[in-house]
Amino acid sequence: MARETLIDWLGMRTDSKRIVVALGGNAILRSKELSSYGEQFENVRRTCRQIVQLIAEGYQPIFTHGNGPQVGNLLIQNEAAAQLVPAVPLDVCGAETQGQIGYMIQQTLRNELRERGLSRPVASVVTQVLVDADDPAFAQPVKPIGPFLPRGVAEERMRDKRESWTQIDARGWRKLVPSPQPVGIVEVDIIHALLDGGAVVVACGGGGVPVLRRPDGRLQGVEAVVDKDLAAARLALELHAETLLILTDVPGVAVNFGKATQRFLRRLTVTELEDLLVQEPFSAGSMGPKVRAAYRFVHDGGGQATICALEDALAGVRGDAGTVIVPDGTMQLPFHAPGQRG
Ligand code: ADP
Ligand code: MG
Repeated sequence: MARETLIDWLGMRTDSKRIVVALGGNAILRSKELSSYGEQFENVRRTCRQIVQLIAEGYQPIFTHGNGPQVGNLLIQNEAAAQLVPAVPLDVCGAETQGQIGYMIQQTLRNELRERGLSRPVASVVTQVLVDADDPAFAQPVKPIGPFLPRGVAEERMRDKRESWTQIDARGWRKLVPSPQPVGIVEVDIIHALLDGGAVVVACGGGGVPVLRRPDGRLQGVEAVVDKDLAAARLALELHAETLLILTDVPGVAVNFGKATQRFLRRLTVTELEDLLVQEPFSAGSMGPKVRAAYRFVHDGGGQATICALEDALAGVRGDAGTVIVPDGTMQLPFHAPGQRG
């Protein structure tokens, strides 16, 4: 049976060509390097080379990306220039970095496509992500943002601005903001339209700008950070993408990470992952949200989620590299490249 016919027959809702690719911070700015824009462009180029391989194979990628280092730098600029220009609120900083990183991807991907004799329109969408005002995360800010500052400044802001701050280590104190769940993608219709028009789309950068819908229906930015992997899962579900591809700097998800007994996971069903999550505490600031995003996507109807190294992007989509999460009962379905007869 042809793959498309089989998909119809199974009543699957996903679009086999669409892949939401979540890029880690290191895809643009390697961890802790104080890099120039020349170096950032070079990192983006490495990433785009991988994505061009996917496009050449007939896939339609949708990029999402982290913005931690970039938004961190804007917040440092805020502090340093506070006497000269009014501080930029966090939601606006998020939108700024979407434009900044989107521009780098648009230009670099076009250049790399051109080199391969391919051509696609590339567009970034400044994306707002809906969060729920009743999300319990708002009662408990956990995400550190901005520069390390001395205790005195932290205490003043806690008192005068009712902000949350915590001492991280000897370097000092950082502000904490809530990290609510993404419940909707405001710009999803225009993203669909761009994809239907054949574009490669960059969306939900930095997890998207978190916004609340007020009782009167109006949208309003909030001071919070949505995890970029969870936003990518939400976006992939709303776009009916077949695959969520989370690219990072390790070959996949390991159990007993960092210990002598460390072992990378290859292929799990949703239920197997659920059983594993009961015993294995994946670290909250790094692998945890990726595993949760992969689980959420496949559990809620996605076709496959892969967490793998940037260099393994194409093999990861094919299920031949990284850690691959599949729906229950689909371990053996021979789904590979789009258009391939199954
Ligand atoms: P990115 O910036 O690419 O989104 P993170 O740095 O947040 O990624 O997460 C990737 C990192 O997670 C890896 O470099 C690795 O050090 C760490 N990590 C923590 N726990 C695990 C685990 N169980 N398996 C693999 N990597 C893990
Ligand atoms: Mg990282």
